[in-house]
Amino acid sequence: LQDQLKDPTLLRQQAFIDGMWCNADQGGTLAVNNPATGQQLGTVPDMGADETRRAIAAAQAAWSGWRKRTARERSMVLRKWHDLMLANADDLALIMTAEQGKPLAEAKGEIGYAASFIEWFAEEAKRTYGDTIPSPSPSSRIVVTKEPIGVCAAITPWNFPAAMITRKAGPALAAGCPMVLKPAEATPFSALALAALAERAGVPAGVFSVVTGSPKAIGGEMTSNPSVRKISFTGSTAVGKLLMQQSASSIKKLSLELGGNAPFIVFDDADLDAAVEGAIASKFRNAGQTCVCANRIYVQDGVYDAFAEKLVSAVARFKVGNGMESGVTQGPLIDDKAVQKVEQHIADARAKGGRVLTGGKRHALGHSFFEPTVIADVNSDMLFAREETFGPMAPLFRFKTDEEVLALANDTEFGLASYFYSRDIGRIWRVAEGLESGMVGINTGLISNEVAPFGGIKQSGLGREGSHYGIDDYLAIKYLCMGGI
Ligand code: ADP
Repeated sequence: LQDQLKDPTLLRQQAFIDGMWCNADQGGTLAVNNPATGQQLGTVPDMGADETRRAIAAAQAAWSGWRKRTARERSMVLRKWHDLMLANADDLALIMTAEQGKPLAEAKGEIGYAASFIEWFAEEAKRTYGDTIPSPSPSSRIVVTKEPIGVCAAITPWNFPAAMITRKAGPALAAGCPMVLKPAEATPFSALALAALAERAGVPAGVFSVVTGSPKAIGGEMTSNPSVRKISFTGSTAVGKLLMQQSASSIKKLSLELGGNAPFIVFDDADLDAAVEGAIASKFRNAGQTCVCANRIYVQDGVYDAFAEKLVSAVARFKVGNGMESGVTQGPLIDDKAVQKVEQHIADARAKGGRVLTGGKRHALGHSFFEPTVIADVNSDMLFAREETFGPMAPLFRFKTDEEVLALANDTEFGLASYFYSRDIGRIWRVAEGLESGMVGINTGLISNEVAPFGGIKQSGLGREGSHYGIDDYLAIKYLCMGGI
């Protein structure tokens, strides 16, 4: 990998704490593998509570200097970080594809998407406006200001190794907060490359640290350390609940982007070709490993067979392979555990009457490659009706009425994204308002961008990332009551 990079110094095998590149205190390391080949790419330090405590102390020490800078000064540092990300996009994409598996074009797209959060929040840094409120008393005045909440800790997943970091670090640093990050074990190199660029952009020591290693030990310290005022997590609902419990003893502010179980509804008045295109984008991007992936596809009776046929022929055009090769549209899954979950969902569906239209098994390429799969005649008793599959498998449910499909779509503890296709204006409003989710894609399968609020309701999480709302999660409101006037 190092030989492929224009700037080999972006591939870092040390963690970044208080502006210094360092090894674990005990010297231990963790291997990082390429999921497409099974080969080891390198190692990162296996750190724990002690190193995390040091990173938090450094953040606490750096906080007062960083918050005292003017918003414009912080903005200019972030802008430089953004520019460096784009200038090094080719290398960052290579690193990402090597450790995560997604096709290089998708990885490059993610770098642009990741950088967009830094640019956006560089701008928002200057707009954390307060308020004045008419006082109930003639002798006092009321002013509301917004202040950085303090040291933030972030824990991020492997499916978007860069963007899940920048949409936390961007608003945190813009607001005047330092951040300590623990990236996913599978994809630490993308995080460390971002840290190298942050250093070059002039982010001061301690303001952005990256600690690699044991999730339990690092997460335990982050959630119990009293200096940490806020935790921002993207990952599974189970770990989110655990972090929330652990944070309870010191009442930390939480942002949680957790699991989804997105319904994707195709009504009989839909533009079917557009619906197929949207389903492909929503279901199969990143080989089905996104939290907003369509997990349950509901197709109205009258167009069910036509939609299934068109979807199967679109899936047939996929090219599965190593993401480094040109033309590849589907990389490997992140690991064998991910493959086993897809296999389990397919076996369960088969046993309960599901009909595999295409795919259905491990790919001939071996490793964690899986055939893009479409299953028809599925029902609500099957596992994927309840759980996220997180893999390249599209189950097609059949429905008859709008009321029926809304009830089915909402019959989940999750509420992140949902999607539907219709051209009827009345139905569009009724369904958009009836769906219980934080985000709704209407006649589109792609909803994520930096200007819109990303986040869920129910057990899909707390808070919003991106948009002008996103910085609020890193700000505390302060009310000044000025009396004696
Ligand atoms: P996924 O299924 O996407 O791997 P996880 O929730 O397990 O979802 O992982 C998301 C992030 O949470 C990763 O960075 C992982 O290391 C971290 N994580 C997993 N378990 C814990 C834990 N007990 N405490 C803190 N972080 C954890």
